[in-house]
Amino acid sequence: MTLPRPPQPPLRPLDEALAELLGHARPLVDVEAVSTFDADGRVLAQDLVSALQVPPQDNSSMDGYALRCADLSGLNPANPVLPVSQRIAAGASGKPLVAGTAARIFTGAPVPDGADAILMQEDCELLAAEGDGLPAIRLRTLPAPGQWIRRAGEDVRQGAVVLARGARLTPASLGLAASIGLDRLQVARRPRVALFSTGDELVMPGEVAPAQMKPGSIYNSNRFFLRALLRRLGCEVSDLGIVPDRLDATLAAVQSAAQDHDLILTSGGVSVGEEDHIKPAVQALGRLDLWQIAIKPGKPFAYGRVQDAHFIGLPGNPVSSFVTFLLLVRPFLLQLQGASQIAPESIALPAHFTWPRADKRREFLRARRNAAGGLNLFDNQSSGVLTSAVWGDGLVDNPPGQTIAHGDLVRFIPFSELLA
Ligand code: AMP
Ligand code: MG
Repeated sequence: MTLPRPPQPPLRPLDEALAELLGHARPLVDVEAVSTFDADGRVLAQDLVSALQVPPQDNSSMDGYALRCADLSGLNPANPVLPVSQRIAAGASGKPLVAGTAARIFTGAPVPDGADAILMQEDCELLAAEGDGLPAIRLRTLPAPGQWIRRAGEDVRQGAVVLARGARLTPASLGLAASIGLDRLQVARRPRVALFSTGDELVMPGEVAPAQMKPGSIYNSNRFFLRALLRRLGCEVSDLGIVPDRLDATLAAVQSAAQDHDLILTSGGVSVGEEDHIKPAVQALGRLDLWQIAIKPGKPFAYGRVQDAHFIGLPGNPVSSFVTFLLLVRPFLLQLQGASQIAPESIALPAHFTWPRADKRREFLRARRNAAGGLNLFDNQSSGVLTSAVWGDGLVDNPPGQTIAHGDLVRFIPFSELLA
């Protein structure tokens, strides 16, 4: 005989849970100035407006000779020769071009007044000077006006906003900021995150050697990827280590983590077992707003508040923890920093696999792009198999109740969208 299970509240759809979560993520108001060197990954708190045009002047994009195209019609077509009247290296500024001559010029050097094209050095032959005369070039081809000239302002116009507030800085954007003369940038301050793992089975690598592991013990893997993910998102992490599976210890850890942190992030202990103390601890010290999401992996996910700190409880299973971080914690932390682009882009790709058993929950399957432009699936999709997240290069976002046949187009979210 089976007893009827008590009624369960329905699991929350992911989009609804994410919208609620983002509704709680009021952007941090504090801003700090950091060196442009150190701003990779940070979120801009100011528009970057250019005080100059880039490049500042018309300049040569080749090593060669600057000349005036109108002078070419006067040359002997059988032997087109121009004397070389000056030499302009990068960093120098030349004199106006003497009519009927060419100027030796190098990549990046300003184009002299009067010149309107660059001839690549490969397209001419250098003739040595005779007596006191000038050296000359014999042209192998005739350039068109504007050839190999980079125009002043073609990259950035003066007064242009090169990057807007809310942009997440990348290595290329640091270069762009530097190109308009900015050595310091105003960015959102780092979110302060208290991180702890729960589980009496957990052992730290380095503290116990593999051969000495007691039965029932496992290494704490979540702590490593969660810390790395938080760092990538610009957070300052206080790692509170492993908290034992006891209510008193959990209460003490949550209470202390609520001080001076924007977010308390935990892994494990957020399910329904008797050894899961996170929920009751958060309910005792604050409130729980959200619990259990209709996704696989990653159902036991919790959001709440403890005093002034946000609380997010991630599932203990490593893949569940990893996936819920990417889908929910990442956008939350980006919004805290005022980022304007927080949703990952997915792409449609053909499945080169089958998925014959539909699930009631929306699934995020670990998959990898293949050379034929399709997706292969990792063969073990268990929420405990972290190898799947290393082998895969993204997640197939499979709607609830959906089977997948070979060749079906599926939504794929590359990890490059989720780990940046
Ligand atoms: P829990 O959510 O605490 O019930 O844990 C679910 C599963 O995840 C259990 O098999 C735990 O042993 C495992 N687990 C929990 N925390 C970690 C962790 N930090 N590293 C590796 N596995 C974990
Ligand atoms: Mg546990």
